[in-house]
Amino acid sequence: MRNYDAFLLDLDGTVYWGQKEIPEAVDFIKKLKNKGLRYLFVTNNSTRTKEMVADQLSGFGIPCTPDDVLTTSIATASYIKSRKPDAHVLYIGEQGLKQAMETAGFSYDEEHPDFVAFGMDRQITYEKYAKACLAVRSGAVLVSTNPDVALPNERGLVPGNGALTSVISVSTGVRPIFIGKPEPIIIEMALEKLGTTKAHTLMIGDNYDTDIMAGINAGLDTLLVHTGVTSQAALKTKRVQPTYALESLSEWVL
Ligand SMILES: [Mg+2]
Repeated sequence: MRNYDAFLLDLDGTVYWGQKEIPEAVDFIKKLKNKGLRYLFVTNNSTRTKEMVADQLSGFGIPCTPDDVLTTSIATASYIKSRKPDAHVLYIGEQGLKQAMETAGFSYDEEHPDFVAFGMDRQITYEKYAKACLAVRSGAVLVSTNPDVALPNERGLVPGNGALTSVISVSTGVRPIFIGKPEPIIIEMALEKLGTTKAHTLMIGDNYDTDIMAGINAGLDTLLVHTGVTSQAALKTKRVQPTYALESLSEWVL
């Protein structure tokens, strides 16, 4: 194991399972803090604000402030801002996306938006889709927070944001720009936020197809922990292997 200056951490399946913390991960993050190593939580969940995420992590005893959290909603706002600082945006999503768009200072515009920003919306309606499709057909750039096609919850696998976004892309024939993992965009923003380099940063997650692929796509070393989605058997079938694979974060020597 090499020494790294900074760590990007996935949340669900890596740091906690739903409402319950993963003790090995909590200990690991406390050690990072004590050693003065930098870390950032990078999540594809666009529904929550960074304050909501930080509150939950603090409740688990994890040292965390809102500034230690990069959600796909914040990354989506940063991406749009980099392309057009005073953009008019039609945004469809939950609290996390709404707050990110408002904080970025974008004008909400249903009539002539420059961008459609789409994130997970459990109150999605036909009318919202109609507005998004009409805007995209009028030339608005379609940006979607993350491509996850399915999401695990207590009922099983339910539709994720990639599946919801597909209604707009199928209807308009326009391919969205995805921001979240496995796209490298969010990883590059994370590095910029931490002020660290690819060579000195490790991407850690439980899901090969999102976390590990994001790290690989961005050119980072990666650590897969088998505390969530990707089993050892599933990992064996992958052509490109992560730099490291461990049963849990207690095996990582800091
Ligand atoms: Mg995960």
